[in-house]
Amino acid sequence: MSVQLPDDPARDDVLAGRPALWLNPGLKADGIAEPGLPVRAAQVAEAETNWQRLAPLLQTCFPELAAAGGRIQSALIEAKALRNALGYQGADYGRVFVKADGDLPVAGSIKARGGVYEVFMHALKMAEKRGILTPGGDVTVLAGEQARALFAQHTIAVGSTGNLGLSVGIAARALGFRAVVHMSADAKQWKVERLTRLGVEVVRHQADYTTAVEHARIDAEADPSIYFVDDERSQMLFFGYSAAARELAAQLDAAGVTVDAEHPLFIYLPCGIGGAPGGAAYGLKAIFGDAAHAFFVEPVQSPCALVHMMSGAAELVSVYDVGLSNRTEADGMAVARMSEFVAEVMRPLLSGVFTVADDDLFRWLWQAHSTQAIRLEPSAAAGFAGPEFVVASPRGRDYLRAHGLRDKAAQATHVVWTTGGAFVPEQQFQQFLQRGAALVGG
Ligand SMILES: *Cc1c(COP(=O)(O)O)cnc(C)c1O
Repeated sequence: MSVQLPDDPARDDVLAGRPALWLNPGLKADGIAEPGLPVRAAQVAEAETNWQRLAPLLQTCFPELAAAGGRIQSALIEAKALRNALGYQGADYGRVFVKADGDLPVAGSIKARGGVYEVFMHALKMAEKRGILTPGGDVTVLAGEQARALFAQHTIAVGSTGNLGLSVGIAARALGFRAVVHMSADAKQWKVERLTRLGVEVVRHQADYTTAVEHARIDAEADPSIYFVDDERSQMLFFGYSAAARELAAQLDAAGVTVDAEHPLFIYLPCGIGGAPGGAAYGLKAIFGDAAHAFFVEPVQSPCALVHMMSGAAELVSVYDVGLSNRTEADGMAVARMSEFVAEVMRPLLSGVFTVADDDLFRWLWQAHSTQAIRLEPSAAAGFAGPEFVVASPRGRDYLRAHGLRDKAAQATHVVWTTGGAFVPEQQFQQFLQRGAALVGG
C-alpha cells in the first residue's frame, strides 16, 4: 500500500525523515467529554482503585515495593543542571521536570504500569472465578499454593519489541504462570536473556513488532489455556498506564506547581504503539482537562502515530506506507503501525506529535546521565526535544498562539516522560554513553 499524506506544514519533513512537529487538527476543547469515544474517564478512577487493591499482593511478590507500600511508582525530578545542558535555561521554558519511569521497579520501564497491571488483574479475576479469592477478600492468597497450582496450568502470551515482554514475563512468572513472549527482530539480546533466566519461553521473529504480535495472537486463539495480552487493543493495559496521571498530579502539587488555564502543563510522551503514552495522556486530560497539553514523540523513521493521525484515514496507515523504514535504535518505539483503539481515543485529546533523530537520543541520554545521574535507554530520552519544539519552533509558536498561551510561557510546566533504562546492563549502558559523549564532543 502507498498512501498520500494530506497537505500539512510538517509533511515534507516527516516524509524526508527529518525532525518535525505536527499539530493535531482534531484536538478539541474538553475533548475528554467527546461523545462516542470507546472509553470513559471514570475508568481511570477504577484503575486507581484496582492498583490499590493489588498493592498488598504486589508487595508480597516484589519485596522491593515494600517502602512504597506495594505501589509501582517513579520520582518526579526537576531538571536543573540538565535543563541548562539542553539549552532550556531561559525563563521562557518555565519549569522543566523529568517523570522518571526509567527507574520504575519490577520492570525497569513504563511497561510496569501496563503489563504488570493486566497480568495481575487477569490472575485476580481467574482466582475469583475459581473461588480461591472472595470478592473484596485478601489478595495475598494469590501468592499461595492453591493459586500458584492453578496459574501453573495457564499461559500468558504477548508480542513485544522488548519491554512489554519483560514486564508481562516478570509479572506472569512471579505468580507462577507459564509465559511466552514473541519478540520482534528489534529486541535487544539482554532482554531475551533476562526473560529466559526467569523461565519465560521466548520466540524470536525475524520480523517487526506487528508480525510478532500477530504470531502471539494466532497461538492464543488456537489454545484456550493461553491468555493473550493484546498491545494493539487492550483497554486493561491502557488504563493501567492511565493511573500514572494521579501520581504525577500529586507530585506536581507537592512541587508547588499549579496547573490551570494560566499555568499550562506540557507533557512529552515517547510513543510506540501508543498504549503507554495514550493511557498516561488520557489520565492527565481526565484530571487537568484543557490545561494539559499532551504531545507524543517518535523516531524519525518510526512515526506511526504521526503518519496515521495526519493521514486522517479510517484504515491504519503504517510508516512503510509513506516510504519510511521503521529503523531505529530506539527499540521501545520501533513500531510501524499504531493501535487503532488508541488512535480513536487520542483524536480529540492529543495536541500533536514530534519526531527525533537517533543521534539526538544518545546525546540526551548522555546529558541526562552526566548532569543528574538519570539512567535511560535510547527510547526513553526522546521527550527532551519537547520544550524546544513547543517554545521555540514556528509550529510550536503557532500552537501557543492558537491556545492563547504566548504570554504564559514563563508560567508553564514541561514534563518530559522518560520511559525506560534501569534494567539496561552496565556494559550496554556504557556503550550508549560513549556514543552520546562522542556526539556531544565530550
Ligand atoms: C513501550 C515503550 C514506549 C512506548 O509505549 P507504547 O505503548 O508502545 O506506545 C516508549 N518507551 C519505552 C522505553 C518503551 O518501552
